[in-house]
Amino acid sequence: MQQFESFRASSLYCQKCSKAMPVREKLLLVLPDKEIYDYLCTGCASSLGQREVTAGELMVARAARASSGPSRFRI
Ligand SMILES: [Zn+2]
Repeated sequence: MQQFESFRASSLYCQKCSKAMPVREKLLLVLPDKEIYDYLCTGCASSLGQREVTAGELMVARAARASSGPSRFRI
């Protein structure tokens, strides 16, 4: 099973801020078979890491996101 929760990092350790900081996900590069995201510290805007997402992962993630709308709670 895929772990969709790990698709987005919510916070990473920042050396400048000397603590774990919330990060902002920024689309850095789009390639035919993958996308590369940059994680920027919301405190000092340093790049704390990058993540490559393959086309297959993107399809799965988008499908998961599309199916988790408000209708999910309509019971
Ligand atoms: Zn920082």
